[in-house]
Parts: sequence; C-alpha cells; structure tokens
Amino acid sequence: MSRVFNFSAGPAVLPEAVLQRAREEMLDWQGTGMSVMEMSHRGKAFMSIAAKAEADLRELMAIPADYSVLFLQGGASSQFAMVPINLLRGKKSADYINTGAWSKKAIAEAKRYGQVNVAATAEANNFTSVPAQSGWKLDSNAAYVHYTPNETIGGVEFPFLPDTGSVPLVADMSSSILSRPIDVSKFGLIYAGAQKNIGPAGLTVVIIRKDLIGQPIDGMPVMFDYAIHDKEGSMYNTPPTYGWYLAGLVFEWLKEIGGLKGMAAINKRKADKLYAAIDGSDFYANPVDPTCRSWMNVPFTLANPELDKTFLAEAEKVGLTTLKGHRSVGGMRASIYNAMPEAGIDTLVSFMADFEKRNG
Ligand SMILES: *Cc1c(COP(=O)(O)O)cnc(C)c1O
Repeated sequence: MSRVFNFSAGPAVLPEAVLQRAREEMLDWQGTGMSVMEMSHRGKAFMSIAAKAEADLRELMAIPADYSVLFLQGGASSQFAMVPINLLRGKKSADYINTGAWSKKAIAEAKRYGQVNVAATAEANNFTSVPAQSGWKLDSNAAYVHYTPNETIGGVEFPFLPDTGSVPLVADMSSSILSRPIDVSKFGLIYAGAQKNIGPAGLTVVIIRKDLIGQPIDGMPVMFDYAIHDKEGSMYNTPPTYGWYLAGLVFEWLKEIGGLKGMAAINKRKADKLYAAIDGSDFYANPVDPTCRSWMNVPFTLANPELDKTFLAEAEKVGLTTLKGHRSVGGMRASIYNAMPEAGIDTLVSFMADFEKRNG
C-alpha cells in the first residue's frame, strides 16, 4: 500500500488513523457482527455512535446548550436554501458579504426566497482580501448576516469575527470548521459540508441557536425545515449513518491531538511554511492580501504558466497529488486541511524549491 499526499479541495484527505480504525471496524463493529453501514439508524448501536459524535463535537467546539447540532444531507449547497427558508422569519431581506465564489452561490440561492442586501463585496480587488467591517452597509432590520469565513477557491479567510449586534450571524464554514477554536455563541447558525474538515461527502453539519428554529416559509418541503430535524434528533428520515460514524472518529482524533487549540497550532505552522516558501521566491506567487490568507486553501501560480503541466506531472511522480488550481482561477491550489500531515507540507515545499532550481 502506498498513500500519497492528497491536496484535493474536497472530498479531501482524511486522517490515516481514522481510516485504519474504520477498516478494523468495517466487518464487525464492536461485536455487533455487522458494519456500521448495515445498521438500523434507530438501533442501540448506531444511537450510541450518533450520541458520542455529537457529544464530542460539542466538547471540541464548546457548543453552548442553547444550540442544536444537526447531522443532515444535501451538502452546504442545500443550506444556501435552508438558511433563507428558515431564518427570514417574516422579514423582507438578509445581508450577505460577498468574498468570492461560494458567497456568490449563497447569494444567488437566497434571492429565490427574499431580498438580498450585499452589505460588502471584495469584487473591486478581485476577491483577494476581505472588506473591513468599518465599510459594511449592514441593515439593522436584516433577518441575518451571512458570510463565508473561508473562501475555498480564492484562498481568502476572514482574519476577524464580524460583529452584527443583535442580528444573527450565519457562517458557511465548510472549509474551515474545526481548523481553530471559535466562539460559537457569536453565531446564529453555522453550517458545513463534511467533505473538507469533518469526514466523507454526504453529511452536512448544522449548528443552530434554538430560538431561530421553527418559522420556515410556508409551503416548503418538510425536509427543509430545521424544526423537524431538531425534534427528531436528525432521524426524521434515514440520516447519512456511515458519514456520521466517520465524523465521530475524526472528532475523537481531534481530541487526541489536543482539540482545536492543538489543531490550530499545527495548522498555523503548516500554512506559515507554505506561504514562506511562496513569498521567498520570485518563481511562485500568491495574490491574496497577507492578512487574509487562508490556513486551509493555498492557491499559487508559477511565474511562467507554461510550466504548470510539468509542475503537476512531476509533483504527481513524487506523491503530491491534486495540486491543480480551480478551473476558474488556474495555477495551483494546495488544500491543507486538518488531516494533511506536516510531512506533506515539507515534501511539497522541498519539491517546489527543487523544481524552481531546475526551471527558474
Ligand atoms: C465545498 C464548499 C461548498 C459546497 O459544498 P457542497 O457540500 O458540495 O454543497 C460550499 N461552501 C464552501 C465554502 C465550500 O468550501
């Protein structure tokens, strides 16, 4: 067996220890004689797996008791709709901050259900930084303020936590959840597709302040009502059981490496090393304002784009895969989520130096 260093933006690398444990438990989960995939979601065994995962996530993120944690399907893209459907609560409009590709998708979807006030946009600088909050045109009557703390494609991350007063703050944390400690009590709702920092694709985690639940727009599908999922413990219908289980294993792994504080220290070290390698050479470049650079997704370009293909092919040969940039941006992108080992960064950085020596 040989494992590569996989820099995919998502679905992405999972901790090897988690995959090993899943393999050990694959055919017979703890004496039940069956795989977690084969279990009834209402049986004692799966109920214990589900409860443990939720308890561990609550502990890791210090989620207050007045918040519900939901384990849903439909990806972050379904949340682009569920958020306005449930959180408009009779109000006319919601505020959105536009920092790039994923913000734009959230905005487009919200417009189907209400008015959107784009309170700030980074369009003028081609989404290479985050607009300072002093310039935001927030509406005090807005139903909520939505933002994308980490733009996965642009590699732009908020260096601050927005202050929206009594207006609920909503965050699409798909590509940055669990990468560092955050104060959940500052948010009305947090959502994340699992396939970047939580587990396999197919699971979506929603953390919602309980008072925001229960006033969806009339006539919407029952599956798009947070209240149903909250009331039924995310088991109104069959939940994504195997994804939920694997997420639980990832939470246990995070607790073992020192929780989110421990993870943050590792992530900072990893990102610093890679950005230092990029900034330390005229051969590589990253366009993002240094104060807004993502810890999770690091886009970079070569001075001569004609070398892109060679770079990717040679990287692949030494076990560094999926470094091709998003089709809308070009160049390279190294996604270095929680599960990317530091050795992956070290190998990439030395490959980059070597490639520059031979081609610079
Ligand atoms: C990947 C991603 C999405 C899309 O998630 P799906 O689960 O595929 O719907 C949305 N927002 C952000 C920030 C992402 O990184």
